Amino acid sequence: MRAVPNRGLQIPAAAAAPPPAPPWRGERPGSALRPRCCRCANGGSRPASTVRLRGARPDPAARGRGGGRREGCSRCPSAGLTEEQKEFQKVAFDFATKEMAPHMAEWDEKEIFPVETMRKAAQLGFGGIYVKPDVGGSGLSRLDTSIIFEALSTGCTSTTAYMSIHNMCAWMIDTFGNEEQRHRFCPSLCSMEKFASYCLTEPGSGSDAASLLTSAKRKGDTYVLNGSKAFISGGGDTDVYVVMCRTGGPGPKGISCVVLEKGTPGLSFGKKEKKVGWNSQPTRAVIFEDCVVPVGNRLGAEGQGFNIAMKGLNGGRINIASCSLGAAHASVLLAQEHLTVRKQFGEPLASNQYLQFRLAEMATRLVAARLMVRNAARALQDGREDAAVLCSMAKLFATDECFAICNQALQMHGGYGYLKDYAVQQFVRDIRVHQILEGTNEVMRMIVARNLLQG
Ligand SMILES: Cc1cc2nc3c(=O)[nH]c(=O)nc-3n(C[C@H](O)[C@H](O)[C@H](O)COP(=O)(O)OP(=O)(O)OC[C@H]3O[C@@H](n4cnc5c(N)ncnc54)[C@H](O)[C@@H]3O)c2cc1C
Repeated sequence: MRAVPNRGLQIPAAAAAPPPAPPWRGERPGSALRPRCCRCANGGSRPASTVRLRGARPDPAARGRGGGRREGCSRCPSAGLTEEQKEFQKVAFDFATKEMAPHMAEWDEKEIFPVETMRKAAQLGFGGIYVKPDVGGSGLSRLDTSIIFEALSTGCTSTTAYMSIHNMCAWMIDTFGNEEQRHRFCPSLCSMEKFASYCLTEPGSGSDAASLLTSAKRKGDTYVLNGSKAFISGGGDTDVYVVMCRTGGPGPKGISCVVLEKGTPGLSFGKKEKKVGWNSQPTRAVIFEDCVVPVGNRLGAEGQGFNIAMKGLNGGRINIASCSLGAAHASVLLAQEHLTVRKQFGEPLASNQYLQFRLAEMATRLVAARLMVRNAARALQDGREDAAVLCSMAKLFATDECFAICNQALQMHGGYGYLKDYAVQQFVRDIRVHQILEGTNEVMRMIVARNLLQG
């Protein structure tokens, strides 16, 4: 027996090939976490900083010059994409590799909200990906957005998931706001000079969101808000709050949507929640005590708020599912690497057929989940009638499957997978919550079942 340095574990000398080093710290050459398309795609030639999405699609002349543009194998996340989409994806993978992956453990451990990194991402157009260009957005499609969030999430799932909520809020203002509101809020959100939060859930209304109680009483040209929101991502650290509140009677038709800015008298925040994952973004209660908001901050008409909230969530569900795809993709790569390097019973784990089959299942489930997410993204982009159901199905399937994939990848790491030195555990912790928020997966089943039984 010999001791593995710094880990205090006793393993037989004959089987002492150590597992890959802590991935993001790169202590052993060649073992650093390198979020990438997949082994079939080379690294590409275009540095992320040279490509900016906003208002200008990537240089068409660059198409077909190689550098990550090979067709890729069937399980590659760039399979089936247009050259332009491969360009976006490449930019996002590069950003994830260089700007996020090296820090994801520290952001998690120290609970750092990486504001400056997100602002760098916004310079590439990731602050308002599907917001219209006239207010600073990138004007890309839902499918493009999904591709970008999947790639970014390989570098830090928690940070990318917050960015997806921020993007959803910016889209809601862009889509349902009037011209004055769009120009007032969207440019600073798209640049991520300001950050946004989505405020629907309350202590007493989670899955039954339409029963929310936060009241907004009209007083002249203002609403006076009273009540509180629970579990708000970014809460306390963000600048702009998109709040669903009750201006009318009970039920969804009594709900309106208003935009509040930090610093509004009567707006305060609860303590920062301690969480299993998603630690690079704060979660707090948002509290309204006689909080006065101009009527001019209401998005859409009175009573339209629940509809606006649900429209936002359709895209939000694709985005959060895309973040799960990224985590699962990264975890499959980590598992592949670990199985190849780690030896037990005198052979690499990769020689074991049981583990080979499990790896094959993981890759298969990942491809299936990705196809569902992209199918839903296309349906939403095209305004199809069944888009909301397809988004729910995709969220349900992808977040469940991807959690199972990450968890299996952790299992393949054995005891090392349970150590915080290894990235795989963070992916597991970060994506667990995707099965709970933006509508729990039980609520997704309710939406799908209702559609089947009513249709
Ligand atoms: C880290 C984190 C970040 C979040 N960020 C935000 C945010 O930014 N903005 C926001 O508005 N909200 C946010 N949420 C809240 C999230 O959307 C809710 O937690 C979620 O909608 C579930 O609500 P709940 O926690 O009240 O659970 P409940 O609604 O109390 O549900 C408890 C359990 O019962 C199940 N259940 C409930 N009703 C039924 C039913 N009829 N049939 C079958 N099962 C049922 C649920 O699926 C769940 O498993 C966040 C939550 C977390 C944990």
